[in-house]
Amino acid sequence: MGQAISSCVRFPPRTLIKEDLSEAEEQRLSHFVTEIYNEAKLKHNQADLAQHEQYIRTRVVQPIIDKFNKMHPLLTVTDTLLNGSMSNGTKIEMPCEYDYMLPIALSGNKQLKISKYDNGTLFISLSTKCNHELQQLIEEEKYEYLMVKVANKKYYFNPVALKNIVHMALNGCLLELHKEKLLIYKRMKSLKYETPISTQLDEKEVILDDRTHGPCSRLRAWGPLCVTDIDLGVCLKIPDLPQTEDSFYMALPPSRELYWKKSFYEKPHIRATRLNQSHVKIIMAIKYILSQFLFHSSVHVNGAEIDLHSHALFTIVRCHQEKCQGKLSLGQCFYDTIYDVCRFHLKSITNPTAIEVHDMNLRNLQDKDCSEIHLLEKNTTSHSFTGVYGVVLYTLMRLIKFSEKSPAEYYCRYLENLTRETELEVLQQHLLQGSRKESLTREQILAEQDINTLLYNVMSTKHGIYLNVLVDTEVILSRVKIK
Ligand SMILES: [Zn+2]
Repeated sequence: MGQAISSCVRFPPRTLIKEDLSEAEEQRLSHFVTEIYNEAKLKHNQADLAQHEQYIRTRVVQPIIDKFNKMHPLLTVTDTLLNGSMSNGTKIEMPCEYDYMLPIALSGNKQLKISKYDNGTLFISLSTKCNHELQQLIEEEKYEYLMVKVANKKYYFNPVALKNIVHMALNGCLLELHKEKLLIYKRMKSLKYETPISTQLDEKEVILDDRTHGPCSRLRAWGPLCVTDIDLGVCLKIPDLPQTEDSFYMALPPSRELYWKKSFYEKPHIRATRLNQSHVKIIMAIKYILSQFLFHSSVHVNGAEIDLHSHALFTIVRCHQEKCQGKLSLGQCFYDTIYDVCRFHLKSITNPTAIEVHDMNLRNLQDKDCSEIHLLEKNTTSHSFTGVYGVVLYTLMRLIKFSEKSPAEYYCRYLENLTRETELEVLQQHLLQGSRKESLTREQILAEQDINTLLYNVMSTKHGIYLNVLVDTEVILSRVKIK
Protein backbone atom coordinates (compact mmCIF):
# COMPACT_ATOMS: atom_id res chain seq x y z
CA MET A 1 0.00 0.00 0.00
CA GLY A 2 2.72 2.40 1.15
CA GLN A 3 4.67 1.57 -2.01
CA ALA A 4 1.67 2.30 -4.20
CA ILE A 5 1.27 5.72 -2.62
CA SER A 6 4.91 6.65 -2.94
CA SER A 7 4.97 5.61 -6.58
CA CYS A 8 2.21 8.16 -7.20
CA VAL A 9 4.22 11.02 -5.75
CA ARG A 10 5.26 13.35 -8.53
CA PHE A 11 8.37 15.40 -8.01
CA PRO A 12 8.60 18.61 -9.98
CA PRO A 13 11.24 18.40 -12.73
CA ARG A 14 14.49 19.54 -11.22
CA THR A 15 16.22 22.63 -12.47
CA LEU A 16 19.15 24.66 -11.27
CA ILE A 17 18.07 26.67 -8.25
CA LYS A 18 18.74 30.38 -8.60
CA GLU A 19 19.08 32.51 -5.51
CA ASP A 20 18.56 36.26 -5.37
CA LEU A 21 21.49 38.61 -5.06
CA SER A 22 21.83 41.26 -2.36
CA GLU A 23 23.08 44.69 -3.38
CA ALA A 24 26.50 43.97 -1.86
CA GLU A 25 26.71 40.67 -3.75
CA GLU A 26 25.81 42.42 -7.00
CA GLN A 27 28.59 44.93 -6.41
CA ARG A 28 31.13 42.22 -5.66
CA LEU A 29 30.19 40.41 -8.89
CA SER A 30 30.40 43.69 -10.86
CA HIS A 31 33.84 44.33 -9.45
CA PHE A 32 34.91 40.78 -10.24
CA VAL A 33 33.73 40.84 -13.87
CA THR A 34 35.51 44.16 -14.40
CA GLU A 35 38.75 42.77 -12.96
CA ILE A 36 38.54 39.65 -15.14
CA TYR A 37 37.67 41.73 -18.22
CA ASN A 38 40.72 43.96 -17.66
CA GLU A 39 42.83 40.82 -17.42
CA ALA A 40 41.25 39.31 -20.55
CA LYS A 41 41.06 42.22 -23.00
CA LEU A 42 43.55 42.74 -25.82
CA LYS A 43 46.25 45.11 -24.62
CA HIS A 44 47.22 46.46 -28.06
CA ASN A 45 46.06 49.78 -29.45
CA GLN A 46 43.69 49.97 -32.44
CA ALA A 47 46.39 51.09 -34.89
CA ASP A 48 48.62 48.10 -34.07
CA LEU A 49 45.68 45.69 -34.27
CA ALA A 50 44.65 47.11 -37.65
CA GLN A 51 48.19 46.76 -38.95
CA HIS A 52 48.36 43.17 -37.68
CA GLU A 53 45.11 42.23 -39.39
CA GLN A 54 46.18 43.98 -42.57
CA TYR A 55 49.42 41.98 -42.67
CA ILE A 56 47.54 38.68 -42.13
CA ARG A 57 44.97 39.54 -44.80
CA THR A 58 47.17 41.07 -47.49
CA ARG A 59 50.47 39.27 -47.03
CA VAL A 60 49.30 35.78 -46.07
CA VAL A 61 45.65 35.17 -46.95
CA GLN A 62 45.34 37.15 -50.20
CA PRO A 63 48.42 35.64 -51.95
CA ILE A 64 47.09 32.18 -51.03
CA ILE A 65 43.61 32.99 -52.39
CA ASP A 66 45.09 34.52 -55.59
CA LYS A 67 47.14 31.37 -56.11
CA PHE A 68 44.12 29.19 -55.33
CA ASN A 69 41.98 31.03 -57.89
CA LYS A 70 44.68 30.59 -60.53
CA MET A 71 45.13 26.87 -59.82
CA HIS A 72 41.43 26.10 -59.27
CA PRO A 73 39.39 28.49 -61.46
CA LEU A 74 36.32 26.25 -61.22
CA LEU A 75 36.25 26.89 -57.45
CA THR A 76 37.12 30.61 -57.59
CA VAL A 77 36.84 32.44 -54.26
CA THR A 78 35.17 35.84 -54.69
CA ASP A 79 35.71 37.47 -51.28
CA THR A 80 37.74 37.31 -48.05
CA LEU A 81 35.40 38.15 -45.17
CA LEU A 82 36.53 38.52 -41.57
CA ASN A 83 34.43 36.50 -39.13
CA GLY A 84 34.66 35.11 -35.57
CA SER A 85 35.71 36.76 -32.32
CA MET A 86 38.14 39.26 -33.91
CA SER A 87 35.19 40.54 -35.95
CA ASN A 88 32.68 40.77 -33.10
CA GLY A 89 35.16 42.35 -30.65
CA THR A 90 35.23 39.54 -28.10
CA LYS A 91 38.71 38.11 -28.68
CA ILE A 92 40.63 37.75 -25.44
CA GLU A 93 44.30 37.89 -24.44
CA MET A 94 46.09 38.06 -27.82
CA PRO A 95 45.06 38.81 -31.43
CA CYS A 96 46.18 35.30 -32.36
CA GLU A 97 43.12 33.99 -34.19
CA TYR A 98 41.47 35.27 -37.37
CA ASP A 99 38.60 33.55 -39.16
CA TYR A 100 37.74 34.28 -42.77
CA MET A 101 34.73 33.18 -44.78
CA LEU A 102 35.46 32.61 -48.46
CA PRO A 103 32.33 32.60 -50.66
CA ILE A 104 32.93 30.83 -53.96
CA ALA A 105 31.70 31.97 -57.37
CA LEU A 106 29.69 28.77 -57.80
CA SER A 107 27.17 30.37 -55.38
CA GLY A 108 25.70 32.23 -58.32
CA ASN A 109 25.32 29.16 -60.53
CA LYS A 110 21.62 28.81 -61.24
CA GLN A 111 21.91 25.09 -61.94
CA LEU A 112 22.66 24.39 -58.28
CA LYS A 113 19.54 23.59 -56.34
CA ILE A 114 19.77 24.20 -52.59
CA SER A 115 17.05 22.43 -50.62
CA LYS A 116 16.33 22.11 -46.92
CA TYR A 117 17.11 18.77 -45.43
CA ASP A 118 16.74 18.59 -41.66
CA ASN A 119 17.68 20.69 -38.58
CA GLY A 120 19.31 23.45 -40.57
CA THR A 121 21.15 21.05 -42.85
CA LEU A 122 21.00 21.52 -46.59
CA PHE A 123 21.18 19.32 -49.63
CA ILE A 124 22.71 20.79 -52.77
CA SER A 125 22.07 19.05 -56.04
CA LEU A 126 22.76 19.76 -59.69
CA SER A 127 19.95 19.77 -62.15
CA THR A 128 20.08 17.31 -65.00
CA LYS A 129 20.97 19.89 -67.62
CA CYS A 130 24.31 20.95 -66.25
CA ASN A 131 25.99 23.87 -67.85
CA HIS A 132 29.54 23.69 -69.11
CA GLU A 133 31.16 24.84 -65.85
CA LEU A 134 29.47 22.18 -63.73
CA GLN A 135 30.10 19.53 -66.36
CA GLN A 136 33.82 20.31 -66.07
CA LEU A 137 33.66 19.96 -62.29
CA ILE A 138 31.98 16.57 -62.65
CA GLU A 139 34.57 15.34 -65.11
CA GLU A 140 37.71 16.78 -63.54
CA GLU A 141 39.78 13.90 -62.15
CA LYS A 142 41.30 15.91 -59.27
CA TYR A 143 37.77 16.71 -58.04
CA GLU A 144 36.70 13.09 -57.79
CA TYR A 145 33.80 12.63 -55.33
CA LEU A 146 32.95 16.37 -55.41
CA MET A 147 29.85 15.72 -57.50
CA VAL A 148 28.33 12.38 -56.61
CA LYS A 149 25.91 10.79 -59.05
CA VAL A 150 22.66 10.03 -57.23
CA ALA A 151 20.37 9.33 -60.20
CA ASN A 152 20.44 9.51 -63.94
CA LYS A 153 22.11 12.85 -64.73
CA LYS A 154 21.50 14.04 -61.19
CA TYR A 155 24.39 14.84 -58.91
CA TYR A 156 24.88 15.70 -55.25
CA PHE A 157 27.39 18.44 -54.39
CA ASN A 158 29.44 16.76 -51.66
CA PRO A 159 30.54 19.28 -48.96
CA VAL A 160 32.94 16.87 -47.24
CA ALA A 161 34.80 16.36 -50.52
CA LEU A 162 34.88 20.14 -51.08
CA LYS A 163 36.41 20.68 -47.64
CA ASN A 164 39.08 18.04 -48.25
CA ILE A 165 39.81 19.23 -51.80
CA VAL A 166 40.27 22.81 -50.58
CA HIS A 167 42.50 21.61 -47.74
CA MET A 168 44.82 19.76 -50.13
CA ALA A 169 44.62 22.63 -52.63
CA LEU A 170 45.88 25.04 -49.93
CA ASN A 171 48.87 22.74 -49.44
CA GLY A 172 49.52 22.96 -53.21
CA CYS A 173 49.22 26.77 -53.19
CA LEU A 174 51.62 27.10 -50.27
CA LEU A 175 54.20 24.88 -52.01
CA GLU A 176 54.01 27.20 -55.04
CA LEU A 177 54.25 30.37 -52.95
CA HIS A 178 57.27 28.87 -51.20
CA LYS A 179 58.96 28.29 -54.57
CA GLU A 180 58.20 31.90 -55.51
CA LYS A 181 59.64 33.01 -52.13
CA LEU A 182 56.48 34.96 -51.26
CA LEU A 183 55.98 32.84 -48.16
CA ILE A 184 58.10 30.27 -46.34
CA TYR A 185 56.02 27.10 -46.08
CA LYS A 186 56.91 24.98 -43.06
CA ARG A 187 54.68 22.19 -44.39
CA MET A 188 51.62 20.45 -43.08
CA LYS A 189 51.80 19.38 -39.42
CA SER A 190 49.57 18.75 -36.44
CA LEU A 191 48.92 22.00 -34.58
CA LYS A 192 46.98 20.24 -31.86
CA TYR A 193 49.72 20.16 -29.25
CA GLU A 194 50.95 23.73 -29.46
CA THR A 195 49.18 27.05 -29.14
CA PRO A 196 49.99 29.87 -31.58
CA ILE A 197 51.61 31.80 -28.73
CA SER A 198 53.98 28.94 -27.91
CA THR A 199 54.92 28.35 -31.58
CA GLN A 200 58.12 29.91 -32.87
CA LEU A 201 57.81 31.30 -36.39
CA ASP A 202 59.81 33.91 -38.30
CA GLU A 203 58.53 36.49 -40.75
CA LYS A 204 56.73 34.97 -43.78
CA GLU A 205 56.65 31.48 -42.23
CA VAL A 206 53.40 29.51 -42.48
CA ILE A 207 52.28 26.05 -41.30
CA LEU A 208 49.12 24.25 -42.49
CA ASP A 209 47.34 22.11 -39.89
CA ASP A 210 47.01 18.51 -41.03
CA ARG A 211 43.38 18.35 -39.81
CA THR A 212 40.43 20.50 -40.76
CA HIS A 213 38.62 22.46 -38.01
CA GLY A 214 34.86 22.39 -38.35
CA PRO A 215 34.23 23.72 -41.85
CA CYS A 216 37.67 25.36 -42.06
CA SER A 217 41.32 24.72 -42.83
CA ARG A 218 43.74 26.25 -40.35
CA LEU A 219 47.01 28.02 -41.09
CA ARG A 220 49.47 29.25 -38.49
CA ALA A 221 51.53 32.24 -39.59
CA TRP A 222 53.96 34.83 -38.29
CA GLY A 223 52.32 38.22 -37.71
CA PRO A 224 53.62 41.65 -36.56
CA LEU A 225 52.09 41.29 -33.06
CA CYS A 226 52.18 37.52 -32.57
CA VAL A 227 52.02 34.15 -34.30
CA THR A 228 48.42 33.81 -35.45
CA ASP A 229 46.01 31.03 -36.39
CA ILE A 230 44.00 31.71 -39.55
CA ASP A 231 40.85 29.69 -40.22
CA LEU A 232 39.74 29.70 -43.84
CA GLY A 233 36.27 28.40 -44.63
CA VAL A 234 34.82 28.19 -48.12
CA CYS A 235 31.07 28.68 -48.34
CA LEU A 236 28.25 29.08 -50.84
CA LYS A 237 25.99 32.13 -50.55
CA ILE A 238 22.36 31.00 -50.56
CA PRO A 239 20.80 33.15 -53.31
CA ASP A 240 17.14 32.52 -52.40
CA LEU A 241 17.38 33.86 -48.84
CA PRO A 242 17.44 37.56 -47.91
CA GLN A 243 20.81 39.22 -48.34
CA THR A 244 22.15 42.75 -48.05
CA GLU A 245 25.49 44.33 -48.80
CA ASP A 246 26.58 43.42 -45.27
CA SER A 247 24.94 40.08 -44.62
CA PHE A 248 23.87 36.84 -46.25
CA TYR A 249 22.90 33.27 -45.48
CA MET A 250 25.43 30.64 -46.46
CA ALA A 251 25.88 26.91 -46.84
CA LEU A 252 28.97 25.64 -45.04
CA PRO A 253 30.67 22.27 -45.23
CA PRO A 254 29.83 20.36 -42.04
CA SER A 255 32.07 19.68 -39.03
CA ARG A 256 31.26 16.01 -38.62
CA GLU A 257 28.02 15.23 -40.42
CA LEU A 258 27.54 14.64 -44.14
CA TYR A 259 25.30 17.52 -45.16
CA TRP A 260 25.80 21.20 -45.82
CA LYS A 261 25.04 23.40 -42.84
CA LYS A 262 23.05 26.62 -43.01
CA SER A 263 24.65 29.61 -41.34
CA PHE A 264 24.55 33.41 -41.35
CA TYR A 265 27.29 35.92 -42.03
CA GLU A 266 27.32 39.61 -41.21
CA LYS A 267 30.18 42.04 -41.58
CA PRO A 268 32.21 42.99 -38.47
CA HIS A 269 30.76 46.50 -38.08
CA ILE A 270 27.26 44.97 -37.76
CA ARG A 271 28.31 41.93 -35.74
CA ALA A 272 30.05 44.10 -33.14
CA THR A 273 26.80 46.00 -32.44
CA ARG A 274 24.95 42.82 -31.37
CA LEU A 275 26.26 43.13 -27.79
CA ASN A 276 26.58 46.33 -25.80
CA GLN A 277 29.75 47.14 -23.86
CA SER A 278 28.72 45.62 -20.52
CA HIS A 279 27.70 42.35 -22.19
CA VAL A 280 30.96 42.30 -24.15
CA LYS A 281 32.70 42.49 -20.76
CA ILE A 282 30.64 39.52 -19.58
CA ILE A 283 31.36 37.28 -22.55
CA MET A 284 35.05 38.11 -22.37
CA ALA A 285 35.12 37.29 -18.66
CA ILE A 286 33.42 33.93 -19.30
CA LYS A 287 35.83 33.16 -22.16
CA TYR A 288 38.78 34.07 -19.94
CA ILE A 289 37.58 31.73 -17.18
CA LEU A 290 37.20 29.04 -19.87
CA SER A 291 40.71 29.65 -21.21
CA GLN A 292 42.11 29.37 -17.68
CA PHE A 293 40.09 26.20 -17.14
CA LEU A 294 41.45 24.69 -20.37
CA PHE A 295 44.97 25.67 -19.42
CA HIS A 296 44.87 24.26 -15.88
CA SER A 297 42.54 21.26 -16.24
CA SER A 298 43.44 17.84 -17.59
CA VAL A 299 41.13 18.29 -20.62
CA HIS A 300 44.15 18.14 -22.94
CA VAL A 301 45.26 14.84 -21.34
CA ASN A 302 42.13 13.01 -22.48
CA GLY A 303 42.06 14.79 -25.83
CA ALA A 304 38.70 16.40 -25.13
CA GLU A 305 37.28 19.63 -26.36
CA ILE A 306 34.75 21.76 -24.50
CA ASP A 307 31.49 21.97 -26.44
CA LEU A 308 30.79 25.57 -25.47
CA HIS A 309 32.50 27.16 -28.45
CA SER A 310 32.79 30.89 -28.93
CA HIS A 311 29.66 31.28 -31.08
CA ALA A 312 27.55 29.33 -28.56
CA LEU A 313 28.71 31.64 -25.74
CA PHE A 314 28.07 34.70 -27.93
CA THR A 315 24.55 33.41 -28.55
CA ILE A 316 23.85 32.74 -24.85
CA VAL A 317 24.92 36.30 -23.95
CA ARG A 318 22.90 37.75 -26.86
CA CYS A 319 19.76 35.90 -25.66
CA HIS A 320 20.34 37.19 -22.13
CA GLN A 321 20.78 40.79 -23.37
CA GLU A 322 17.45 40.56 -25.15
CA LYS A 323 15.79 39.57 -21.86
CA CYS A 324 17.53 42.10 -19.57
CA GLN A 325 17.17 45.00 -22.05
CA GLY A 326 20.06 46.82 -20.40
CA LYS A 327 18.03 47.41 -17.22
CA LEU A 328 20.16 45.36 -14.80
CA SER A 329 23.51 45.99 -13.14
CA LEU A 330 26.70 44.47 -14.54
CA GLY A 331 26.92 42.11 -11.55
CA GLN A 332 23.33 40.90 -11.98
CA CYS A 333 23.80 40.41 -15.74
CA PHE A 334 26.97 38.41 -15.12
CA TYR A 335 25.21 36.27 -12.52
CA ASP A 336 22.22 35.64 -14.82
CA THR A 337 24.44 34.75 -17.78
CA ILE A 338 26.57 32.32 -15.76
CA TYR A 339 23.35 30.72 -14.58
CA ASP A 340 22.21 30.40 -18.23
CA VAL A 341 25.51 28.73 -19.18
CA CYS A 342 25.40 26.36 -16.19
CA ARG A 343 21.84 25.24 -16.91
CA PHE A 344 23.06 23.34 -19.97
CA HIS A 345 24.80 20.78 -17.75
CA LEU A 346 23.81 21.28 -14.10
CA LYS A 347 20.71 20.62 -12.01
CA SER A 348 20.22 21.24 -8.30
CA ILE A 349 19.51 18.23 -6.14
CA THR A 350 17.78 19.53 -3.02
CA ASN A 351 19.48 22.82 -2.22
CA PRO A 352 21.72 25.30 -4.04
CA THR A 353 24.96 23.72 -2.82
CA ALA A 354 24.34 20.17 -4.14
CA ILE A 355 24.32 19.76 -7.90
CA GLU A 356 24.13 17.01 -10.44
CA VAL A 357 26.55 17.28 -13.38
CA HIS A 358 25.15 15.87 -16.62
CA ASP A 359 27.16 14.55 -19.50
CA MET A 360 24.52 15.58 -21.98
CA ASN A 361 22.99 18.88 -22.91
CA LEU A 362 19.87 19.47 -20.87
CA ARG A 363 18.57 22.15 -23.22
CA ASN A 364 18.63 23.25 -26.84
CA LEU A 365 20.50 26.36 -27.86
CA GLN A 366 19.09 27.92 -31.02
CA ASP A 367 21.19 30.08 -33.27
CA LYS A 368 19.84 33.66 -33.22
CA ASP A 369 20.03 34.12 -36.98
CA CYS A 370 19.12 30.59 -38.14
CA SER A 371 16.66 29.36 -35.54
CA GLU A 372 16.48 25.89 -37.09
CA ILE A 373 20.14 25.38 -36.18
CA HIS A 374 20.78 24.06 -32.69
CA LEU A 375 24.22 25.08 -31.51
CA LEU A 376 23.71 22.72 -28.57
CA GLU A 377 21.16 19.98 -28.87
CA LYS A 378 19.13 18.65 -25.94
CA ASN A 379 19.83 15.04 -24.95
CA THR A 380 22.95 14.72 -27.05
CA THR A 381 26.09 13.71 -25.27
CA SER A 382 28.51 16.45 -24.68
CA HIS A 383 31.96 15.85 -23.30
CA SER A 384 31.74 15.58 -19.51
CA PHE A 385 34.41 18.22 -19.13
CA THR A 386 31.91 20.79 -20.36
CA GLY A 387 29.97 19.89 -17.20
CA VAL A 388 33.13 20.23 -15.09
CA TYR A 389 33.60 23.74 -16.52
CA GLY A 390 29.98 24.42 -15.53
CA VAL A 391 30.81 23.39 -11.94
CA VAL A 392 33.80 25.76 -11.93
CA LEU A 393 31.57 28.67 -13.05
CA TYR A 394 28.84 27.78 -10.59
CA THR A 395 31.24 27.37 -7.66
CA LEU A 396 33.02 30.61 -8.57
CA MET A 397 29.68 32.46 -8.40
CA ARG A 398 29.03 31.04 -4.95
CA LEU A 399 32.55 31.81 -3.82
CA ILE A 400 32.24 35.49 -4.76
CA LYS A 401 28.64 35.75 -3.59
CA PHE A 402 29.56 34.66 -0.07
CA SER A 403 33.05 36.14 0.31
CA GLU A 404 32.57 39.40 2.07
CA LYS A 405 36.19 39.93 3.00
CA SER A 406 38.31 39.06 -0.02
CA PRO A 407 38.58 41.58 -2.85
CA ALA A 408 37.46 40.47 -6.31
CA GLU A 409 40.94 40.60 -7.85
CA TYR A 410 41.96 37.93 -5.36
CA TYR A 411 39.73 35.41 -7.17
CA CYS A 412 41.19 36.15 -10.58
CA ARG A 413 44.31 34.48 -9.30
CA TYR A 414 42.25 31.67 -7.83
CA LEU A 415 41.09 30.09 -11.06
CA GLU A 416 43.90 27.55 -11.15
CA ASN A 417 43.17 26.39 -7.62
CA LEU A 418 39.43 26.30 -8.23
CA THR A 419 39.83 24.31 -11.46
CA ARG A 420 42.03 21.76 -9.71
CA GLU A 421 39.74 21.31 -6.68
CA THR A 422 36.63 21.04 -8.88
CA GLU A 423 38.21 18.45 -11.12
CA LEU A 424 39.46 16.48 -8.12
CA GLU A 425 36.01 16.43 -6.53
CA VAL A 426 34.19 15.48 -9.76
CA LEU A 427 36.65 12.64 -10.52
CA GLN A 428 36.57 11.31 -6.94
CA GLN A 429 32.77 11.37 -6.92
CA HIS A 430 32.69 9.74 -10.35
CA LEU A 431 34.69 6.80 -8.95
CA LEU A 432 32.68 6.62 -5.71
CA GLN A 433 29.30 6.78 -7.48
CA GLY A 434 30.17 4.84 -10.64
CA SER A 435 31.49 1.37 -11.21
CA ARG A 436 34.86 1.73 -9.59
CA LYS A 437 37.37 -1.07 -9.76
CA GLU A 438 37.20 -3.38 -6.75
CA SER A 439 40.87 -2.81 -6.07
CA LEU A 440 40.12 0.78 -5.02
CA THR A 441 38.63 1.47 -1.59
CA ARG A 442 36.62 4.56 -0.72
CA GLU A 443 39.48 5.78 1.49
CA GLN A 444 42.01 5.34 -1.30
CA ILE A 445 39.87 7.34 -3.71
CA LEU A 446 39.36 10.17 -1.24
CA ALA A 447 43.06 10.23 -0.38
CA GLU A 448 44.18 10.36 -4.02
CA GLN A 449 45.24 13.89 -4.88
CA ASP A 450 46.78 13.25 -8.28
CA ILE A 451 44.35 14.22 -11.05
CA ASN A 452 46.05 12.06 -13.68
CA THR A 453 45.82 8.92 -11.50
CA LEU A 454 42.14 9.60 -10.84
CA LEU A 455 41.53 10.29 -14.52
CA TYR A 456 43.27 7.05 -15.47
CA ASN A 457 41.01 5.12 -13.06
CA VAL A 458 37.90 6.92 -14.35
CA MET A 459 38.78 6.15 -17.97
CA SER A 460 39.15 2.45 -17.16
CA THR A 461 35.64 2.17 -15.64
CA LYS A 462 32.87 0.95 -17.91
CA HIS A 463 31.41 4.48 -18.16
CA GLY A 464 34.71 6.09 -19.09
CA ILE A 465 34.41 9.82 -18.47
CA TYR A 466 30.66 9.76 -19.22
CA LEU A 467 28.53 9.58 -16.11
CA ASN A 468 26.16 11.85 -14.25
CA VAL A 469 27.84 12.80 -10.99
CA LEU A 470 26.48 14.40 -7.82
CA VAL A 471 28.79 17.07 -6.43
CA ASP A 472 28.64 19.16 -3.28
CA THR A 473 30.00 22.62 -4.08
CA GLU A 474 30.52 23.24 -0.34
CA VAL A 475 33.23 20.57 -0.36
CA ILE A 476 35.00 22.33 -3.22
CA LEU A 477 34.62 25.71 -1.52
CA SER A 478 35.99 24.42 1.78
CA ARG A 479 39.08 23.08 0.00
CA VAL A 480 39.61 26.27 -1.96
CA LYS A 481 39.27 28.42 1.14
CA ILE A 482 41.75 26.44 3.24
CA LYS A 483 44.65 27.19 0.90
ZN1 LIG B 1 22.13 41.95 -19.13
